[in-house]
Amino acid sequence: MTWQDDAGRDLVRSFGPRMAMFVRGEGAYVWDADGRRYLDFLAGIAVNSLGHAHPVFVEALTRQAATLAHVSNYFATPPQLELAARLKRLAGTGDEGRVYFANSGAEANEAAFKLARLHGGADRPRILALTDAFHGRTMGTLALTGKPAMQEPFLPMTPGVEFLPSTIAALEAAVDDRVAALIVEPIKGEAGVVDLPEGYLAAAREITARHGALLIVDEIQTGAGRTGEWFAFQHEGITPDAVTVAKGIGGGFPIGALITFGSASDLFYPGTHGSTFGGNALGTAVASAVLAEIERADLVAAASARGAQIRDGVEALGSELVSGTRGRGLLIGIALTRPVAKAVVAAAAEHGLVINAPNDDTIRVVPPLTIGDIEVDEFLALFAASLRTVQDALLLDGSPHPASPSEVPA
Ligand SMILES: *Cc1c(COP(=O)(O)O)cnc(C)c1O
Repeated sequence: MTWQDDAGRDLVRSFGPRMAMFVRGEGAYVWDADGRRYLDFLAGIAVNSLGHAHPVFVEALTRQAATLAHVSNYFATPPQLELAARLKRLAGTGDEGRVYFANSGAEANEAAFKLARLHGGADRPRILALTDAFHGRTMGTLALTGKPAMQEPFLPMTPGVEFLPSTIAALEAAVDDRVAALIVEPIKGEAGVVDLPEGYLAAAREITARHGALLIVDEIQTGAGRTGEWFAFQHEGITPDAVTVAKGIGGGFPIGALITFGSASDLFYPGTHGSTFGGNALGTAVASAVLAEIERADLVAAASARGAQIRDGVEALGSELVSGTRGRGLLIGIALTRPVAKAVVAAAAEHGLVINAPNDDTIRVVPPLTIGDIEVDEFLALFAASLRTVQDALLLDGSPHPASPSEVPA
């Protein structure tokens, strides 16, 4: 029996076949069961901010596990209070801000959904979200996720959610005094690292404020310094009403949070929400240590600099398969000229590089924030080799990809 047989038999089929089985990680590298090393520029989907087995992560986890792991939300713990204060400071909420702790991104967005309902009450039944944005897989967050194909097997959805194209004009036309909240992803990661139009967040802030609706920013993928600010909304100089975080803040430990600003911080009252595990001492100690290390090592600025280095390097490859890059900092979408992203990911794995394809013509690159020149250079070499492998296969094939009939052959 191979591990593939075990996985095929025992694991739920909601995921496709696993590409490899990893047994160990260190820094930006992971090793499979055969001892093969891979450069990990997916980082567990923008999760492993400090890379694998970082001493700060290991120390915080083991020390807290040996001290106090979990007591329930009937009680407070020092790491929980430390992380709440840290998140408020980094998000810039001021004193009024509050933090709700969850165990995942979807749970953080579920809390945001309930916040929107508490704000809206009976007078504001409408919740607005953007077409193609991703907010999670639970029934509540799926209702917020503007992808009909994902919703279809699970209809009916929680009512009240409407989807808008990502234009300021569509927002202006849609928002009225019956809207409880607008939720936006500042860069649509799962949709293929798609940027919002210039000025969108500032306009969204102005329009929602004018109508008394909450602006909720889903920073689950963009947060924790990845885009070159602690949170992507900070590039635009706005103050939202709520921000959700997860992925990168735990550095590999599952944790999420909803951070509220101003009067949105007064909406929850005892009995309106809760979680057994949310905010437990183990998770909050790790997240606090991870964020402290990001701060100490100035990895937010590094995300900008390393992101620019990777973008310049990818452009300089001059590959016919690459049309450009999207995203910000170390949240990078590499746009392909042909719908061969899955083939590029497979070729990359063969060359010892982990990346992924959020759609058919985009490669997503979200490495640890700790990468240096060595990892960047190695990535560029492995990525170039992967593109060449795919290009050679296309030449052998001799025809444009069948899925792109409108494409002009190079
Ligand atoms: C990953 C992600 C989620 C869902 O997070 P989970 O931890 O998988 O539940 C929600 N929103 C965005 C923007 C994400 O990238």
